Amino acid sequence: MVNAIEALGLKAHPMPGAQRTGIGITGNSGEVDAVSLELLPGVAEAIKVSRPYKLVSREVKPDRTIIQIGNAIVGGGELAIMAGPCSVETPEQTMAVAEVVNACGVKFFRGGAYKPRTSPYAFQGLGMPALKIMTEVRERFGMAIVTEAIDQESLELVERYADVIQIGARNMQNFSLLRSAGQTRKPVLLKRGMSATLEELLMAAEYIMAEGNYQVILCERGVRTFADHTRNTLDLSIIPAVQRLSHLPIIVDPSHGTGRREKVIPMARAGIAVGADGIMVEVHCQPERALSDGPQALLPDMFKQMVEQLREIHKVVTKIPALTAKP
Ligand code: PEP
Ligand code: MN
Repeated sequence: MVNAIEALGLKAHPMPGAQRTGIGITGNSGEVDAVSLELLPGVAEAIKVSRPYKLVSREVKPDRTIIQIGNAIVGGGELAIMAGPCSVETPEQTMAVAEVVNACGVKFFRGGAYKPRTSPYAFQGLGMPALKIMTEVRERFGMAIVTEAIDQESLELVERYADVIQIGARNMQNFSLLRSAGQTRKPVLLKRGMSATLEELLMAAEYIMAEGNYQVILCERGVRTFADHTRNTLDLSIIPAVQRLSHLPIIVDPSHGTGRREKVIPMARAGIAVGADGIMVEVHCQPERALSDGPQALLPDMFKQMVEQLREIHKVVTKIPALTAKP
């Protein structure tokens, strides 16, 4: 089928599911002749995708996407926890946090090497040395490394050194960066822009998938509203909304979503209760000395407690049968 589609000058995106393999077709300028495709052997039906996003949509792939990263899984009923400091500051600071995170059985270590900061005078991240430190974390603990690429240059390095490429909120609509991330074959963690609608988030994911990288994890990290009791407003209602429209996994970041340490755990619990596939949180052993985002960093004891609580909640959530009544 892929050959037949390509012979028409179109791009084929095979996406295997449990019952059938969907093949998304992009690259057409006008309508594709569905009838002639349906005549080809092995084709059950040709569906015209009604949404502006195609590969992201459940119309192309009804089964939820499961992303395997080393011995960890995102989506498919496993609780994914990604944790670590906002910024990698020193080898000692990073290893101390990594030890805490690893001791809780967490499989993903996050840390910023390249930081998109509001002020040009604020700490911009260690860059390359931070990537090296995180490589040591992976070697010592076996955790998968998640870190942000902020531009083309850092993307090349992050692709080489990390296991998951993070695209931050500020870059959600950096279309050339999205395209380049789509040309890599590493999973991409795509954070929602702070003023992005659901459709804009899904269109951003489509940019990555259109380049042939289907391993996209979405992340709700709060949007900007008039509320000033938190840094952002964590919009948990986007979780069921995304799950209705898309097969992609989605996780919640209550650290940037609230900006305040004491609000992180309750919102993390709510995120798992609402059906997110995982959580990303910031952890620091001495948050008062952190070079970025100290006020929202969980202390080691808080982190341990949170992980235990999330596992309990996740057990309950996965036991509840899916809604069968149509809304
Ligand atoms: C981060 O994860 O450290 C970060 C900068 O997040 P965001 O892009 O959501 O602001
Ligand atoms: Mn941060």
